[in-house]
Parts: sequence; structure tokens; C-alpha cells
Amino acid sequence: MADCLFCKIVAGEIPSTKVYEDEKVLAFLDINPMAPVHILVIPKEHIPSLDGVNEENAPTAAHCLAVAAKIAREKGIAQDGYRVVTNIGAASGQTVPHLHFHILGGKQLTLSLG
Ligand code: AMP
Ligand code: ZN
Repeated sequence: MADCLFCKIVAGEIPSTKVYEDEKVLAFLDINPMAPVHILVIPKEHIPSLDGVNEENAPTAAHCLAVAAKIAREKGIAQDGYRVVTNIGAASGQTVPHLHFHILGGKQLTLSLG
């Protein structure tokens, strides 16, 4: 999608610090980390949010989750525990309308529902 920040990151038009990439998925460091490990996993395909996930693109969304779990193990946060979060729409605080899963870990997380 032409005007989407994360599509521009996928296209390489905006730089990112890549953590993982394959044909369907990209993961990169969040620019404003909320935890010692804060990584975003996104589908390369533009899906606006989880609300845009359907039977057709669900395998891609599921692949994002498998990649998130793999990254968490590789970053050494899986043993202690971590969180995967996705915001959906304005009331959740979603600021970038391209599906993304936050991986948050490396510290004791509190539950803030903001
Ligand atoms: P959300 O509020 O769930 O839509 O999350 C969007 C996330 O994208 C925030 O945590 C931002 O810090 C992050 N973000 C925004 N711009 C960039 C960027 N250029 N590179 C990496 N992360 C970004
Ligand atoms: Zn996009």
C-alpha cells in the first residue's frame, strides 16, 4: 500500500534494523522500545490489522506468530517469558495500520491496559 509506513519498510524505502526476513515476513527493532527486547513482526503483504485477517491470509498471520516464537527463543527471552501484542484500531492505540505483532520481553512485564 503506497502510503503505509510498514509497506515502505518492507520495500526498503524507510530503513529498519532487521532481525529476521523471509518471503512472507519481516521482523525489525521497534524504534521506541518499551522493553529491553521489543521487536515487531509484520507480514510483507499489507493487512490493516488483525481485523483484516481471514481464511485466505490466516496462514501468513500464523506464520508471523511462529516467527515471533522463534525470535523470542533466539533472543533468549522465551525461558523467562515474554508477551506478544497486536493492537487493532484506534481504541487500542494502533498507530500504524499494517498488521504487526509486538514481541516484548527481557524484563518483568506488568499488565497495563492503558
Ligand atoms: P502500534 O501502536 O501497535 O500501532 O505500534 C506501532 C509501533 O511502531 C510503535 O511501537 C512504534 O514505536 C513503532 N514504529 C513506528 N515507526 C517505526 C519505524 N520507522 N521503525 C520501527 N518501529 C517504528
Ligand atoms: Zn502496509
